Amino acid sequence: MLLHFDQITTDFVSTFFSKEINVSVLRLDKIHPVISGNKWFKLRYYINEAKEQKAKKIVTFGGAWSNHIIATAAACHLNGITAAGIIRGESPPVLSSTLARAKEYGMELFFLSREEYRKKKIPSELQQPYHYFIPEGGAGPPGIKGASEIPRYCSGMYTHYCCAVGTGTMMAGLIKATSAQQKVIGISVMKNNHDLEKNIRESANTKTKEWTVIHDYHFGGYAKYNPALIHFMNELYRIYNIPSDFVYTGKLFFAIADLIKTGFFPAGSSLLLVHSGGLQGNDSLEKGTLIY
Ligand SMILES: *Cc1c(COP(=O)(O)O)cnc(C)c1O
Repeated sequence: MLLHFDQITTDFVSTFFSKEINVSVLRLDKIHPVISGNKWFKLRYYINEAKEQKAKKIVTFGGAWSNHIIATAAACHLNGITAAGIIRGESPPVLSSTLARAKEYGMELFFLSREEYRKKKIPSELQQPYHYFIPEGGAGPPGIKGASEIPRYCSGMYTHYCCAVGTGTMMAGLIKATSAQQKVIGISVMKNNHDLEKNIRESANTKTKEWTVIHDYHFGGYAKYNPALIHFMNELYRIYNIPSDFVYTGKLFFAIADLIKTGFFPAGSSLLLVHSGGLQGNDSLEKGTLIY
């Protein structure tokens, strides 16, 4: 897979941010039109392992608008591996654009009721020894290993790395890969997901790093949003030409702007915000909600 990456440094100083803080954005949303953002990194070693094991099929899990599902479908297509997606929820009359595109990439879709999905029921035709399973969201050691390569793509000296947090896989990778003086700040996009700290502590396995998960910017929970978030995302795009998604990066940018305003970061801090991609999920919003 070719990695096209384009790092831009954006001076956020004027509208949202105070003058003493320098903010840069690592635009992982630009690396690939479909396998965007952190999913490219998180999938990489899973795909390698599946190839080494000569797996006949890669099977993974996700919801109707999952960035992980579409990224896996595209990555498998690029690598000539067949893919199956186990999808949360009954088969809908009309597929979401995410699932329609995943299908175009050749992914077979299996729909489970939310109850079955929660119990991680695997359809019997997929229970084969020569199938390779990737956990939901690409969580797990190969995902962390891939995510730990993200900081290689930005050369500046940053005091803080900031990212959106779903499973915490990307954050664990960043904690492992950054130096002891660099802090990692994660913005949880879920409500009260307090298992995160334990999971991240175990995965990152470090005693010397300073890192914090902030739980105050979930906007009601996973994939929930309000007019203030949408307004902020539109302003971010209008002023800085940075598109964000309402599930992950919109909340990250909103949170960091707010934390800067409230003095969370000491003067002189230099922040790197990881734009982790996932813009395709915005297709689930009503047309016209976002100006991009
Ligand atoms: C999946 C995803 C995340 C969350 O990554 P985790 O490693 O699960 O914490 C963040 N941002 C975007 C855009 C994503 O698609």
